[in-house]
Amino acid sequence: MDLVLATRSTHKIKEIRTILDVVPNLRVLDLTEASVPYDDAEEDLEPFDTFEENAASKAAYFQRITGLPTVADDSGIEIELLGGAPGVRSKRFAPDQSLSGLALDEANNAHLLASLGDAPLAERTARYVCVAVLNQGLNHGGSDDVTCVRGEASGVILDAPRGAGGFGYDPLFFDEELGRTFAEIAPEEKNARSHRGKAFRALAERLASTTSS
Ligand code: IMP
Repeated sequence: MDLVLATRSTHKIKEIRTILDVVPNLRVLDLTEASVPYDDAEEDLEPFDTFEENAASKAAYFQRITGLPTVADDSGIEIELLGGAPGVRSKRFAPDQSLSGLALDEANNAHLLASLGDAPLAERTARYVCVAVLNQGLNHGGSDDVTCVRGEASGVILDAPRGAGGFGYDPLFFDEELGRTFAEIAPEEKNARSHRGKAFRALAERLASTTSS
C-alpha cells in the first residue's frame, strides 16, 4: 500500500518515517515523491481552532490531489499558564510573521520565554499535542473514510534553552521524567516519548492490521 505523508517539514518526515517503517507492505511517499508541487493554497489549510480539524483539512486536500491514502498531522504546544496558547497557532507564535526556519524557531522560543516571565518552574507546565488524520478517500456512503489519532507529551518550559537536537520548542521543553529537554535526547528517544511518536504508533497499529490482512 502506498501512503502519502502530507507535510513539507523535513523534521517531521524523518520522525514519522522511522515510526511507520514497522508497518509491513507500506510505502511512505512524501509530497515530493508523490509529485505534488508546492502551491500557495497550502498555507490556508489550517485555519481551524482544533488540531483535529486542521489535520483533517490537510489530509483531505492532499488525498484529493494524489488519489492515494494520505496522512496529515497538526501539532503544537499548549501552555497551561497561557490558557492553552499557542496551541494550534504554535508555528506562528512570535509577533514577527516574516520569519522562517531557525530564525522562526528562535523567535517563537524568545516569545514563549517573554510570555512566561519569571513564573516558577512548577507553574510552567506544558504539553505537546499531535493529531494525525488518515484519509483514504470516499467510502461507499460518499463521505470521507477517516481515521484520527492523538498523542500528547507532558513537560515544563525552562527559563533558557538547552540542547541542539530536535526542532521548534524542543530546547525549552523539559521532560521531567528524563531530566532532559527534547533537544538533549537522541531522535529514537524523542520518538519513544513524543506526542508525534505516540500518535503515529497508534496509526501504525491501525495500518498494520490493514496492510497485513
Ligand atoms: P504544524 O503541525 O506543522 O502546524 O507545526 C506546529 C508547530 O508546533 C511547529 O512549527 C513547532 O513550532 C511546534 N511543534 C510541533 N511539534 C513539535 C516538536 O516535536 N518539537 C518542537 N516543536 C514542535
